Amino acid sequence: MKRTARTLLACLLTALLFLAGCAPTPNAAPDPNPSLNPSPSATNTPLPSPTTPPTKTPPPQTSATPTLAPTPDPLSLLPVPPRFEIADDGQRVYFGDAYKQLPEADIMDEIIVPELIIIHTDGQTANLPRDWSTESTYHGLGEWYSVHFAISQYDILQMLPMYPDGVLHGSGAAPQYNDQGEWVTYNNRSIHIEMSGHNFNALIEGWANPEMTEAIEKTTDKTTDLVVSLLWFYHIDPANVFGHYQVGRGKADPGNLYFEQVFLPQLLEKWESFQKSLQP
Ligand SMILES: [Zn+2]
Repeated sequence: MKRTARTLLACLLTALLFLAGCAPTPNAAPDPNPSLNPSPSATNTPLPSPTTPPTKTPPPQTSATPTLAPTPDPLSLLPVPPRFEIADDGQRVYFGDAYKQLPEADIMDEIIVPELIIIHTDGQTANLPRDWSTESTYHGLGEWYSVHFAISQYDILQMLPMYPDGVLHGSGAAPQYNDQGEWVTYNNRSIHIEMSGHNFNALIEGWANPEMTEAIEKTTDKTTDLVVSLLWFYHIDPANVFGHYQVGRGKADPGNLYFEQVFLPQLLEKWESFQKSLQP
C-alpha cells in the first residue's frame, strides 16, 4: 500500500515536472527522432564556472606547502589587482581605474588567449604632456584600431572586455608580411596597451623637459605595474612583451631607446620583486 502511494506520488511529480517543461530524465523515454533533436541541453549549459568564487578564478600556481603558514593571495599582491564581475557573457575581469568600451564598429567579436603584450604610444601631438590623457587615446583610435588599455600619468582605462581565460580580439598592430614573405598578424594573440603621448625616446636623448619627463615616467610606472599583473594573470612569458616597433614594420612606437633602456628594465625588476613577494 505504502509502495503504491509512493509510486503514485512519483508519477504525479514527474507529470508536474513535465508540464513545467523541465522533465528530469532524458534517458527515461527514448527519443523517437534523435537526429532532429540534437541534445537541447547542450545549448543551454554554457555559463562557465558559476561555482568558482570570483576572487579565486585563475588557478593559482599550486602552492606546494599547504600545511605551512598561509601563502599570500597572489591576486591581492598584484600591483594592479583584477576585479571580477558576472556578466551575460560570463565572468568579466577588469584592471585599472575605469572601463569604457570602444565603439562596436572597432570590435572584432572573438575571444583570444593572449600570449604577447604589445606596447604602444598613441602620439597625441596636439596635447602638451600634462594633457596627455586616456580620453584622447580613446577618441584617437579611429575606426580601424582597438586596444585593450589606454594609460596616462593619471589613470589606466580598460577599453575591451576581458575574461579569466581570454580577452577580446584587439586590432592594435596592422597585419603584414614578415621577412620570409609570410602574412603575419599578432592581434589574434596579443594584449595591446597604448600609452598616452609621443616621443618617449626624448627621455634617453635628453631633450624631454621636466613636464614631459614627469608624464613619461608616471605613465611608464603605471604601465609596468599593469603589465606585471597581466603577465601573471594570463601566464604570459615576460620575454613576450614587445614594443610595436619590434612587430610592425615602419612603426617606431613607443621608442626603441626608451623601451630597451627604461621600460623593459623597470618591468623585469618589478616582475622579479613580485615573484619574490609570492614566497611564503
Ligand atoms: Zn603602435
